[in-house]
Parts: sequence; structure tokens; C-alpha cells
Amino acid sequence: MSRIAVTGASGRVGRAVAALLVERGHHVLGLDLVAPATPVPGVDYLVGDLAELPPQDPRLAGLEAVAHLGAFMSWRPEDASRVYDANATATQRLVRALDRSSVRRFVLASTGEVYPENAPVYQPLDEHHPRRPTTWYGLSKVLAEEITAFAGRASGWATVVLRFSHTQDPAELLDPDSFFSGPRFFASRRLTRERAAGHHEVADALEPFAGDDSTLLVASRADGEPVQMGILATADLARGVVLALEASTTGHEVIGLGPDAPTDLGAFARRLAVAAGLRTVDVTLPVSAPSYRTSNARARELLGFAPLLGEEELVLAAVEAREARLASPPTG
Ligand code: NAD
Repeated sequence: MSRIAVTGASGRVGRAVAALLVERGHHVLGLDLVAPATPVPGVDYLVGDLAELPPQDPRLAGLEAVAHLGAFMSWRPEDASRVYDANATATQRLVRALDRSSVRRFVLASTGEVYPENAPVYQPLDEHHPRRPTTWYGLSKVLAEEITAFAGRASGWATVVLRFSHTQDPAELLDPDSFFSGPRFFASRRLTRERAAGHHEVADALEPFAGDDSTLLVASRADGEPVQMGILATADLARGVVLALEASTTGHEVIGLGPDAPTDLGAFARRLAVAAGLRTVDVTLPVSAPSYRTSNARARELLGFAPLLGEEELVLAAVEAREARLASPPTG
């Protein structure tokens, strides 16, 4: 049993990691900018901005390990400074706050966007792939990775950088209002993004579906490659984080945490539509749409990681969550 801090404990991955750690008998301190919507029983919460933690923060005394998951994800140009502050500056402040503490292991949530995945030099993408981020989010995570490696050297911590694949709660998959799935799967929600990107042919094809939240987008690429990417269910990703916290690796390790195989988003949308009784529209996206595969060989080898939830389980859970949502719409 250890005392472990989880930053971003109110977020998608953080609350799942915190819950799993409590279940496994650890004491958990959850740090987040915002209070959790539903607190995980047994977790002590500390609400505040990581970037404002003082050096050698006494509130972090007695910790043995940290899962640093707190971050801000945005790709909007106007959010560049907020992304930098939340992901790079806040990581530096967290490390300073832990200076001379009892921490011995530090696990960072990074991302495949450090490569970036949508412009792979080779595939499957693995930990040796050069890091040449093209977004402020990707750059902020490269910097967080470097701060983590530095902290390991300077403080003698075992450090693990986990490069997460894309992750979602299955309940988000068929929710048109979800941050990721709305524009990914719902024709009406995709329209704005394609128009803003100047893909007017795609946007025109989607125009008849404006205001329609029951038509899913079956996407393919202009060059015939599938629109595909790694998607890991949040529960699987959380298990990977806990494995990294409980592992006995030493020094600095970089590990890609993703699924066994990529998800073909077009084929997946069709499966979701059939299972949920929704309509589909076929759309050809430009070659800038993602089409990549990642390797999880190192996660298997170093952490004994294996995803448990495949596409079939994700589809079933997504449909179940949609039905529950439709049966009890939010009030007020
Ligand atoms: P999320 O947005 O659901 O949760 C992030 C949490 O961090 C939020 O609760 C937020 O309040 C908190 N936070 C942000 N800035 C903070 C600050 N300055 N101080 C304290 N707390 C702060 O995101 P998630 O999906 O749970 O992602 C968890 C981690 O995984 C993040 O580091 C993210 O960059 C990384 N990641 C996520 C994905 C994905 O597909 N979801 C993919 C790759 C990497």
C-alpha cells in the first residue's frame, strides 16, 4: 500500500485511476483545478492550480508516487498560452513542489501527439519515433516529458512517460455533445470543423445533416487509406497507468500505451450506427485525416499490459449509455 498523488483526478482518466488505486488499497490524494463532479470514495482531494503550487509543498509530504495526468487539451490557437501553462509550466511547478519529498516514482501522461501521429515517419509508431510536434499541445507534452526526465535525474526518482493513445469513456462515443466524439462521429457536428478547415466539398456534403444528431459519419480518405487511429477505453488506460505506478522499473522509461490494433473510424461508425439504430452518411476526407497504427509492445513487455475491452465491448457500452441518456434527459 502506498500514498499516491493523482493530478487531474477530476478528469476522465484521473478519476478512473484514482478509483482503481483505492480499490487496490492505496491512499490517494487527488489534485485538480476543479472539484470532481462525483468524488471517488476514499480519495482526499486538493483543489487548485498545479502551476501555483509552492516549492517543497508540505501538503505533498509523505507521498511515494505521483501519476501526473492533469493537463489542458485544446487545439484552438487562442488557447496556446493556457495549454503551455497547464502542461509545461504546471509540470515544472509540480516537480518543484515535490522537491526533497519522499516521492520515488513519477508517471507522466504524455501523448502520441509528440510525434505527431497524424504525420508518421514510419509505422507502427513506437517510442523511438522522432518527436516533432506541430501543435502547442504536442510541444507542451514534449516539454513535460523533458521536465519529467530531468526530475528523475535530479531527484533520483524512477520516471515513466506514458504516451497515451486516444482514449474515451464508452459513454462518450454516441454522445453528440462529447468533446471528441461529437465532431468525430456526428455528421452535424463535423460540419463546422470541416468548414473552418476550408474543406468545402466535405462541408457541403454534410450540410443536409446540420441540426441532425442521428446520422453518423462513415469516413474514408481520398487516397483509399482507412481513417484509423488507436482508441483505448478509459478503463484499460487507467489499468496501464496503475501498472506503471506499481511496476519496478528504474531510471527513465518511455512507454506507448495503446490498443493492440487501430480502429477504422468509418467501419466503427457503421457498427455503432447499426447497434444504435442510427443512419450513416459516407464522406471522403482529405489525406490529412489521421491514418496511423501504434505499437504497444513495450507496454506489454515492461508493464504486462494487455487491453481487455475491444471494439465489440465499446459498441455495446456506447449503445447502453445512449439508451440510458435518452431515457433520462438532463433536467433544468
Ligand atoms: P481531462 O480533460 O478529462 O482531465 C484533465 C484534468 O486536468 C481536468 O480535470 C482538469 O481540470 C485538470 N487540470 C487541467 N489543468 C490543470 C491545472 N493547471 N492544475 C490542476 N489540474 C488541472 O483529460 P483526460 O482525457 O482525463 O486526460 C488525462 C491526461 O491524458 C492528460 O494529461 C492528457 O493530456 C493525456 N492524454 C489524453 C488523451 C485522450 O484521448 N483523452 C490522449 C493522450 C493523452
